[in-house]
Amino acid sequence: MTALLLSREDLRFQLYDWLHAESLLSAPRFAAHSRETFDAVIDSCERLGGDVLLPCHALSDREEPGFDGEAVRLPDAVVEAVRALAASGLVAATQDDAVGGLQLPVLVEKAAQAWLSAANIGACAYPMLTAGNASLLLAHGSPAQVEAFALPQLRGEWTGTMCLSEPQAGSSLSDITTRAEYERDTPLGPRYRLSGRKMWISGGEHTILGNIVHLVLAKVPDADGRLPQGTRGISLFIVPRTLTADEGGERNDVSLAGINHKLGYRATVNCALNFGEGRFRPQGRAGAVGYLVGKPGDGLACMFHLMNEARIGVGLGAAALGYTAYLHALDYARNRPQGRLPGPAGKDASQPQVPLVAHADVRRMLLAQKCYAEGGLGLVLACARLVDEQRIAREAGDGEAAASKQRLLDLLTPVVKSWPSQWCLAGNDLAIQVHGGYGYTRDYRVEQLWRDNRLNAIHEGTHGIQGIDLLGRKVAMHDGAAFEAYVRMVEATLSRAAGGGCAELADALAARLARLREVTAALLRVDDPVARLANASAYLEAFGHVTVAWVWLDQVLALGGRDDGFARGKRQAARWFMRWELPRVDAWLDRLADNDDTALAMRDEWF
Ligand SMILES: Cc1cc2nc3c(=O)[nH]c(=O)nc-3n(C[C@H](O)[C@H](O)[C@H](O)COP(=O)(O)OP(=O)(O)OC[C@H]3O[C@@H](n4cnc5c(N)ncnc54)[C@H](O)[C@@H]3O)c2cc1C
Repeated sequence: MTALLLSREDLRFQLYDWLHAESLLSAPRFAAHSRETFDAVIDSCERLGGDVLLPCHALSDREEPGFDGEAVRLPDAVVEAVRALAASGLVAATQDDAVGGLQLPVLVEKAAQAWLSAANIGACAYPMLTAGNASLLLAHGSPAQVEAFALPQLRGEWTGTMCLSEPQAGSSLSDITTRAEYERDTPLGPRYRLSGRKMWISGGEHTILGNIVHLVLAKVPDADGRLPQGTRGISLFIVPRTLTADEGGERNDVSLAGINHKLGYRATVNCALNFGEGRFRPQGRAGAVGYLVGKPGDGLACMFHLMNEARIGVGLGAAALGYTAYLHALDYARNRPQGRLPGPAGKDASQPQVPLVAHADVRRMLLAQKCYAEGGLGLVLACARLVDEQRIAREAGDGEAAASKQRLLDLLTPVVKSWPSQWCLAGNDLAIQVHGGYGYTRDYRVEQLWRDNRLNAIHEGTHGIQGIDLLGRKVAMHDGAAFEAYVRMVEATLSRAAGGGCAELADALAARLARLREVTAALLRVDDPVARLANASAYLEAFGHVTVAWVWLDQVLALGGRDDGFARGKRQAARWFMRWELPRVDAWLDRLADNDDTALAMRDEWF
């Protein structure tokens, strides 16, 4: 049942042979763990994925969430799957013992979660958002807020959401207009009344668990009733669907305005929500009750805590969807006889047919998928390990090491979110192609996987916005220190590869790294930000491809002298990536080096 979700052999290799998960055990934080406990968590997620989530994947697509005038309805099997996820303890897995967590490394948690995402990504969104919500509150909430709102989520009793987007404000959050009017101080923090409309809220309304904790971005008006301009005017509020018992226990003034009917990812109900519409009137008046988190004006900075975690989660989901589609395509290609190899017997019907996989062009498609899926998963796991390394350094009091890990992670966040979203989706597309006409029907899983994955380049900051973040902010931050740390990371791999048997791979990567450095420096010298960022998406593609080439070279080095089928497959895929994928970087970087203005100079009226 789970053999087509992910490859356990590859996961084992990536975790233990490549990223040395066991070396994390020497940190006090992870001392209670062992390889056995890591594997036990992964085993249980593999089982949960195969036994509970996968069986309702197609159902959750066919019977999308609906509103019957009273409540949001989801198929029973989906409700049970989300409850099983909540009960699994995974929401709190990486958190401290003290708050009911397992202190599991993020690396292992992500590896375990990959099974769930591959089985039914839509059902996984609930615990993923809940974990991010609770983690934000642990970092920025007051002790009373943690007690009242984070702990029930960590115990799997409630779910959480993030409410940033509004109908008129998606990428540009500085333009949100949800208002928060101060009411009074309470033990849960300063209490406000919120009014406004939020759009696209995943998990925004349902009754799967006991309560929903919305984390809402809103602006506090000044004395004249005007909303502050820009992102610094944005604050963050906890708005529970139902108020706590101490606060009256009533239904809060948050109402469902509508459900969005999506292309895929349908187990997750996606909502337009009205805050303060007056449908519910806590303590006799309209206005959604919300409690300020942190300081006024710090809302977006606090929310980034959740968004950065969520962005690694998006990359993981995209990689898992690409991975499972690749395994389905491989299985199909091995089992469907079709045609014969070119040559004298090519059209001779008396000769047996060959399976699809015997055709080189089908192997081309499978190799590309393997590169995207295993490379994408590797990128995500490498970033997850960085989160652990940062935390270990911080807890050991090594501020400098912690800061340097954090800088590298900040730099890679747009890449880890976007590369799998773009390229594992390309893998999903190829998986349909390998299935031929059957891939275009709903009888095979690959079309649904493609539709599910199509979301990932849109939410949590679109692809274009990630490109602007990378080139407009990340590569220049700390005087380029993060970018230099990245270059050193890739160079360390190149020097380990020197003189070994992978000179061709290393030379290909070294040339593109040097060019990326050169072009980055040139772009940073362009004063006009409009001109500099005009081709930021191409920069993101180039940066991503160089980074995944690094993943592939580093994985090949980790194979050591292994010469079995698995190792040969890895080497062949790495060779494919360096020969067929990495050269794309040249075209992107050439245009970026020219500061090409074709898109910039194009005029609206010329379309
Ligand atoms: C299924 C789904 C689930 C979601 N879940 C949530 C959620 O739980 N909580 C939440 O708050 N939001 C959620 N979102 C919202 C999501 O984050 C936004 O859709 C996204 O940020 C884009 O905003 P938009 O849809 O308004 O598109 P726009 O911002 O209008 O963007 C449209 C296009 O224009 C481009 N663009 C926009 N601005 C610029 C610019 N300055 N420079 C260059 N290009 C630009 C974008 O890259 C994009 O290609 C979800 C969305 C979907 C579809």
